Amino acid sequence: MMNILVTGGTGFVGANLCHRLIADGHRVICLDNNYTGSLDNVRDLLDNPRFTFVEHDVIYPYDCPEKLDRIYNLACPASPPAYQGDRSIFTTKTCVFGAINMLELAKKNGARILQTSTSEVYGEPLVHPQVESYRGNVNPIGIRACYDEGKRCAESLFFDYHRHEGVDIRVIRIFNTYGPLMDPNDGRVVSNFICQALRGEDITIYGEGQQTRSFQYVDDLIEGMVRMMENTQGFTGPVNLGNPGEFTIRQLADMVLQKIETTSKLVQRPLPSDDPTQRRPDITLAGKELGWQPTIPLSEGLERTIEYFRKRIGK
Ligand code: UDP
Repeated sequence: MMNILVTGGTGFVGANLCHRLIADGHRVICLDNNYTGSLDNVRDLLDNPRFTFVEHDVIYPYDCPEKLDRIYNLACPASPPAYQGDRSIFTTKTCVFGAINMLELAKKNGARILQTSTSEVYGEPLVHPQVESYRGNVNPIGIRACYDEGKRCAESLFFDYHRHEGVDIRVIRIFNTYGPLMDPNDGRVVSNFICQALRGEDITIYGEGQQTRSFQYVDDLIEGMVRMMENTQGFTGPVNLGNPGEFTIRQLADMVLQKIETTSKLVQRPLPSDDPTQRRPDITLAGKELGWQPTIPLSEGLERTIEYFRKRIGK
């Protein structure tokens, strides 16, 4: 049994991770300010003596009363409508101050720390599919920069703490992920399309819908995260974790419509600025270093996610 801190533990990925770590027999301290996360995502764990929720914002230092073995640093809003606009400065602070505060905590505890970075570090990619050695094409002054550059700065901090402070780090770059415990109002494409179809509302395609994404089911991601954290070769990454199946947004809408009987129609909305044209992970490195590859195809993952949203929104 290890003592494990999960920042962003009440969010979509964080809560899935907390459930996995508790099932594996660990002690879990779940930290969140509940800005985009929700206690409902971990409510079933609150009675478990191995689980503790602490309301805290990682922008501020956190001194854990228990000795920690592992820190998973997930805290950050991840959906464009949640991280942009009047939340953008808060987003950068969360990425940067959050990384410093958690790296200091890792150093003090001699704990291993994993950073959840993102495919957004590749920006509007000129290399396709994206390999870890590609340095990206991010607009540093655009509306996504608070997140993209914040996450890039966090990667830089992780490697400097590793080189200069001897902190044991792991860095993963997460591609679009979906599944149970997503917030219906999150604003991401999979949750929007499924909830719109279940409610009989218009399905909102941004732009022509020809932009592509590669969608990974959350259980695959969690397996990759744990393998990365526990790899004994000292492999720091960064490593891509994503499903290489690539779909246009229109194809995704069609798949959702095939699976849900609905009166919903496709409608077009303006494409947000700096919305990447294409995204697909090259996962050769994760295969080689972690023996990892995704196992759940989009069609099956969508069905499980539709079941979750049906119950969640009562349709
Ligand atoms: N998108 C869309 N309709 C929606 C929400 C998103 O067409 O209701 C598009 C969005 O413009 C982007 C893609 O779907 O091209 C994925 O968006 P999401 O916010 O899920 O993730 P990210 O942009 O961070 O990859």
